[in-house]
Amino acid sequence: MANMDKKKTPIPEQEPQVRNKNFEEVALGYTEEMAKNEAARCLNCKNKPCVEGCPVNVRIPEFIGKISEGDYEAAYEILTSTNSLPAVCGRVCPQESQCEAKCVRGIKGEPVGIGRLERFAADRHITCAEKKACPTIQKNGVKVAVVGSGPAGLTCAGDLAMNGFDVTVFESLHDAGGVLIYGIPEFRLPKSIVKKEVEQLQGYGITIKTDMVIGKTMTIDELFADGYEAVFIGSGAGLPQFLNIEGESLLGVYSANEYLTRINLMKSYKDGYDTPAVKSKRVAVVGGGNVAMDAARCAQRMGAEKVYIIYRRSMDELPARSEEVHHAIEEGIEFQLLRNPVKIIGDENSRVVGIECVEMELGEPDASGRRRPIAKEGSNFVIDVDTVIISVGTSPNPLIKSTTKGLEANKHGCLVADENGATTREGVFAGGDAVTGAATVILAAGAGKTAASAMMKYLEEKKKK
Ligand SMILES: Cc1cc2nc3c(=O)[nH]c(=O)nc-3n(C[C@H](O)[C@H](O)[C@H](O)COP(=O)(O)OP(=O)(O)OC[C@H]3O[C@@H](n4cnc5c(N)ncnc54)[C@H](O)[C@@H]3O)c2cc1C
Ligand code: SF4
Repeated sequence: MANMDKKKTPIPEQEPQVRNKNFEEVALGYTEEMAKNEAARCLNCKNKPCVEGCPVNVRIPEFIGKISEGDYEAAYEILTSTNSLPAVCGRVCPQESQCEAKCVRGIKGEPVGIGRLERFAADRHITCAEKKACPTIQKNGVKVAVVGSGPAGLTCAGDLAMNGFDVTVFESLHDAGGVLIYGIPEFRLPKSIVKKEVEQLQGYGITIKTDMVIGKTMTIDELFADGYEAVFIGSGAGLPQFLNIEGESLLGVYSANEYLTRINLMKSYKDGYDTPAVKSKRVAVVGGGNVAMDAARCAQRMGAEKVYIIYRRSMDELPARSEEVHHAIEEGIEFQLLRNPVKIIGDENSRVVGIECVEMELGEPDASGRRRPIAKEGSNFVIDVDTVIISVGTSPNPLIKSTTKGLEANKHGCLVADENGATTREGVFAGGDAVTGAATVILAAGAGKTAASAMMKYLEEKKKK
C-alpha cells in the first residue's frame, strides 16, 4: 500500500554541533526499513515525470519499485544501466531542481526522496552484495585515451571498456576521481565511496595512469602517435577566477580550489599528513555556490571561530544545493547576503586583517536570469577576518587547448564540441566541465556517456574506410 505521508522519511544525520567539528559524513543514510517506507511513497506514475527531470533518465520508479520489493541488487542494476556513479549522485546531485522537482508527490507535500533511495541502493550494493566476477569482455584491440578521471572521464572510460575498447585514463593528480576526490569534502562524499565506484569501473579493465599532465607530460598528438585512435577530454574546469580587487595577493587569501585541495586531497585535516593546515580564526568565503558552502564548512571544521559567506544576491538566488545551504546554517555559518567585497585589507606584514564590503540591492534580471545586484553608494563597511577564500567560479585550464592544433575553445576557454561531444579536431571528443564550464556531476557523467557512444560510431566508421 502507498505511504501517503506528505513528508519524506527523515534521514538520520549527525547533530550540527557535533558534525561541525569532524569530517565524518553528515547524512548517515537510510536503514532498510526507512528505505522501504520511503519507496512506498512512490506512486509508480504512468507518465514518469521524474525520469524526464533526470539528465541521464534514470529509470526511477522501476528502481524504487525494486527497493519496495526488497530486491536491492535489482534496484542497483536498474540504476547502473544509465548511471555509473549512483552512490556519488545519490549524495551530491541537486535532486530538488531535477528529478524531485518533477515528482508528483511534490505537489501536495514533499517529493519522494529519490536521491536518498539512490544512495541506499548503491551503498547496499557496495557493502552487502556478494562480489560478482566482472563479466569477461571480448577486447577489440582498439586503443582509446581519456584525459581526466572526473565523472565525465570515468563514465566515458567505463562505457568504452564495457564495449571492448582498450581504455587508458590519464590523470594529472596522484589520485583518480576529479572534483569528487579533490574538491567535495569527506563529510559530504566519503572518498571510500568514490574509490569503490572507481574500482567498480576498473573491474572492466580500464588502466588509470596518474601524475600525467596531458599537454605537458604528453600532448594529444603524442597520444595519437602512441597508437590511441580516439581521445576524450574530460579535464574539467579547475582554473579559479578571482575578484580583481585590491588585496587579493595578501597572505591569507586563497582560491576555494586551493583551500579545498589542501584539505581533501592532501588531507591537511588529518594527523600524520605533512600538508600545512591553515589555522584561521575568522574566515570570509566569497560566493554562494556548492564550492563556497564546502569551503565555509571546511573552515569551521578546521577550527575557525567565525565563518561568513559573503554573497552579492539574496537567499533566493543562492546557486548552492538547498540541502547544503540548510546544513551550513545549522552548523553556524553566518550568511552576509546582499554584500559584495570591494577590497581586502592587510597589515604591515601583508597579512589579511579585514574585508571591506558594500551593501547591494537587486535590480532587473541579467543574462543569467538572476536579478542583477547593484551597489548602494556609501554603504561600505569592514568585517574583521584573517582568511579570505574566493569562490566565484572556475574556468577550463587552457593547457590542452594551447598545445593541441585544431582544437577550438570559446571566449570563456570552454572547448567547442557538438551535441555528441565531437570537437573541432578529428578523433578528439570532449565533455563535462571542460565544455560547459563549471556544472554538475550528473551532467558531466551524461556528457561522458554521450561521447562514448559517438566515439564508438566514429571508430566503427574509421575501420570501414
Ligand atoms: C567543491 C566543489 C563542490 C561541488 N559540489 C557539487 C555538488 O554538490 N553537486 C554536483 O552535481 N556538482 C558539484 N560540483 C561540480 C562537479 O563536481 C563538477 O561539475 C564535475 O566534477 C565535473 O566533472 P568533470 O569530469 O567534467 O571534471 P572534474 O571533476 O573537474 O575532473 C577533471 C579531471 O581532469 C584532470 N585534469 C585536468 N587537466 C588535465 C590534464 N591536462 N591532463 C590530465 N588530467 C587533467 C583533473 O585533475 C581532474 O581530476 C562541485 C564542484 C566543486 C569544485
Ligand atoms: S514522479 Fe514521484 S511518485 Fe511518480 S513515479 Fe516518479 S518518483 Fe514516483
